[in-house]
Amino acid sequence: MDEFFIRELKTKVTLSDLISKYTRVVNKGGKYLALCPFHREKTPSFNINNERGVYHCFGCNVHGDAISFLQEHLSLNFVDAIKELCILTNTPIPVFEPQNPEMIKKLDTIQQSMEFMQKQLKINPKALNYLKNRGITDSIIDQFCIGFGGTQKDGLFQFLKLKFSVEEIQKSGVCIQSSYGSGMFDRFANRIIFPIHSHSGRVVAFSGRIFNNEENTAKYVNSPETEFFKKSQVLYNFHNARKTKEKFVIVCEGFMDVISFYKDGIQSVVAQMGTAFSKEHLHTLTSRFEEVSFCLDSDSAGVLSQKRIIELLFEMMTPEKSFSFIVPHGTKDPDEYLEKYGSGSLKNLTIKRIPLHEHMWELLSKNINFQDPSQTTKLEQQIDIILKKNASTTLWQHYKHFFRNKIYQAKFRKSTTVEIIAQPPQSSTLLPYEENTIAFVYQHYNAIQKQCEDILTEYEIYFATEKAKDLFNLIITGEDISEEPLLEVILKESTIPTINTREQIENYYKLLYYSSMLFLINKEIIQNKHNFQKMLFLSKEKNNIQNEINEIRKNF
Ligand SMILES: [Zn+2]
Repeated sequence: MDEFFIRELKTKVTLSDLISKYTRVVNKGGKYLALCPFHREKTPSFNINNERGVYHCFGCNVHGDAISFLQEHLSLNFVDAIKELCILTNTPIPVFEPQNPEMIKKLDTIQQSMEFMQKQLKINPKALNYLKNRGITDSIIDQFCIGFGGTQKDGLFQFLKLKFSVEEIQKSGVCIQSSYGSGMFDRFANRIIFPIHSHSGRVVAFSGRIFNNEENTAKYVNSPETEFFKKSQVLYNFHNARKTKEKFVIVCEGFMDVISFYKDGIQSVVAQMGTAFSKEHLHTLTSRFEEVSFCLDSDSAGVLSQKRIIELLFEMMTPEKSFSFIVPHGTKDPDEYLEKYGSGSLKNLTIKRIPLHEHMWELLSKNINFQDPSQTTKLEQQIDIILKKNASTTLWQHYKHFFRNKIYQAKFRKSTTVEIIAQPPQSSTLLPYEENTIAFVYQHYNAIQKQCEDILTEYEIYFATEKAKDLFNLIITGEDISEEPLLEVILKESTIPTINTREQIENYYKLLYYSSMLFLINKEIIQNKHNFQKMLFLSKEKNNIQNEINEIRKNF
């Protein structure tokens, strides 16, 4: 490794800027301090010296420079940490030739296999037609180096045999030893070939896909894993995506999804290699992109893997990175979506990416009956488990607040409130019982939410004015309405008794509830004054309510 190059490279980055991409750095009187990313602590003891380009933690004694920081923090080896630093500093990445001659041979075999299969595609009209029919143009074929495995069982082997030994060919993974006798045959014969590149852009493996609907064979066949092709690390098309100017990257399930996004003009897109999304994948993506967006299948397996990814995201989340989801509604994948809705539709979806917490809510709250307390409790516990994956209390508390409000909104949205009377025209002045209710809920919001949330659902207050309904909803969903002019008037005029215990609060709320009932009954009585039978019934009801009110008043 060139010492000179490394020293030059390190000067291109201000260490505190680099570290602040991964953890919060504060400038205290010219000294840069951070909460140590390598051990848990509450007060920062991680010191950064920009002049010397080194850091030291007085808590756990780690120290090093920009490269060792990237190595440790992103679990990279030395060479990859240098490459990472090159990307972060816009430095052209130097050529790192593998020193091991066996490795060089292997990579060379794979490179030559790719070139062979690219040529095979050009001379096979059937394979070419298949791609054309799927809207894959020549420029996409070139961009992704798409090839064809050839129609012969051992065409590639015969070609490689001229340059490499049988052992070398076998080790590269493109040919397989026949189980009968000593013959060799091609792994990817009769398949459309998608080469897989390492993150620095060298072809390291292939994936072959059937295209004639052949039976009795796997849809996809991949190269075996090698030292440079590990599914849990490699992301398809990352070598192209990282060169774009985008701040976000899309993660999809497969090659065809990546190509669909390309067709619609989006190039910062990668695919998993048919394996679970891993921590390594996430590290790779977040070290280059500010936002990672997932566009995954919506079948039951897809939903399950989305839930797993959400857990992983919470585990690894920092305030600097954001996560989102892209949902191709009504179709199974981006390919189908683009076909159904036409050019520009995927681009549109990408613009409307759904933030992680919104998507998580959609996913988890589906099919929950919010009027059923046990279902709601289960949902809340499920959310809690996910949020607590993150070590930062502030972070999960903010999320918890969001989900709590969502649950409240859902409870009220689905409640079976029936408006008994026609809505009076919008009025800026509230009815007396409405004023009391708003003032009470506003002043005792915390107690109601935390201590006796059930009373809100059990005793649904019937507001007659739109304004009161709006204010009430804003308050119970945790919105800040301190600027609301009406509130100022209400709080000045209403006298809310000082009530502190849970029981008192409950009773007062019940009182307000019955006042609202009373209001409704009176209204109905006026409307039905010519209907004797109904009048009789309403009067009875009114009496009952009045008795309830008197009963509650006794407790004050
Ligand atoms: Zn430390």
